[in-house]
Amino acid sequence: MGNGLRFVLLALLLTLAGKPVQGSDAERDEAIAAFIMGLPKTELHIHLEGTLEAEDYLALMARNGRESSYADAAAVRDRLTYARDLDTFIEVYEELLGAMQTAYDFEQVAMTYIERVAAQGVVYVEMFFDPQMHTYRGIPLETVMEGLYRAHERAPVEYGVELWFIACFNRDRSAASALMHLVALAPYQDIIIGVGLDNPEEIGFPEKFATVFARAAAMGFRRTTHLDVDVPNTLEHHWSALRLLDIERIDHGLNVADDPELMTAVREAGIALTACPTLLYRDIPGRLEGRLARIRTLLEAGIEISLHSDDPGLMRDLYVGDLYVLAQNEGGFTREEIVALARNSLLSAWVEEAQRSVWLEAFDAWLAEHPIAF
Ligand SMILES: [Zn+2]
Repeated sequence: MGNGLRFVLLALLLTLAGKPVQGSDAERDEAIAAFIMGLPKTELHIHLEGTLEAEDYLALMARNGRESSYADAAAVRDRLTYARDLDTFIEVYEELLGAMQTAYDFEQVAMTYIERVAAQGVVYVEMFFDPQMHTYRGIPLETVMEGLYRAHERAPVEYGVELWFIACFNRDRSAASALMHLVALAPYQDIIIGVGLDNPEEIGFPEKFATVFARAAAMGFRRTTHLDVDVPNTLEHHWSALRLLDIERIDHGLNVADDPELMTAVREAGIALTACPTLLYRDIPGRLEGRLARIRTLLEAGIEISLHSDDPGLMRDLYVGDLYVLAQNEGGFTREEIVALARNSLLSAWVEEAQRSVWLEAFDAWLAEHPIAF
């Protein structure tokens, strides 16, 4: 084959595969990160209360004229560094979210988050919040909702990001409490589109919440539940949640990869997984790799899985775009895999199909304009 023909063939191949990045390694990494950040995506597993960064917490305390037991942001971060098990994590979580007092606080916390992810390709957010964590400390639901309504209205106007809410009930509280709160959510169904379950997987989960979820479905709420990673009886919990809660998504759910029958059941039921590579024990060797390997297995199995950030404020400020970059850097995810994850995040959102079609068209157009290969 002549050199000319070889060159033409090579050029054709490169055009088909996407354009390789020229220049140094650093330039290449930067170009890939810019592509991943710009890639249109949604955030479906983010806790309002978990978006509070150390500085946000201190600013809220100061604004409300309250004294913090932490001298500075470094001291708050230090406390978080030692919150290495779920119980301690939740203890610190509840302590920090206690800084939110007024409707304005809730509005500002949500808007600060939106501002941070608007630069990471996020077009749409379904944000968890925990009504019980506020009512039990004396903040009326009306106050929380007043702030969330304002954020819902401002986010698309100021940042071009749609913001909706999912109310999570705490699994370590009673079903009666969840039911009482569910009924109280009815007037806010124009911005609260679904319900979920979080906090530790207590004994009795998920049976305990079957009635609550049946009621939620009857009221027209979409349904998801956390199924945490590597907790005792996790596979049993997954199977029971599928049977008893009529869920449409699973938050975390990485243990699905451990059971081929469960993988088939989840895929056939069209249940989406909102996976979070971030974790409490990130420094333990192999933990991050283990999570990324399961994410890849689930993606390859045809499950609608996407990446999400959970509690970025409490987990070293890694937001959703950062996590896609992390998956590429640490897990060696290819362009095709990164694109598939982001596309899944559009497919898993609880929106009308007409809106989804518009998204997917824009997504494909964006990809065509950014032919980078990695
Ligand atoms: Zn979560």
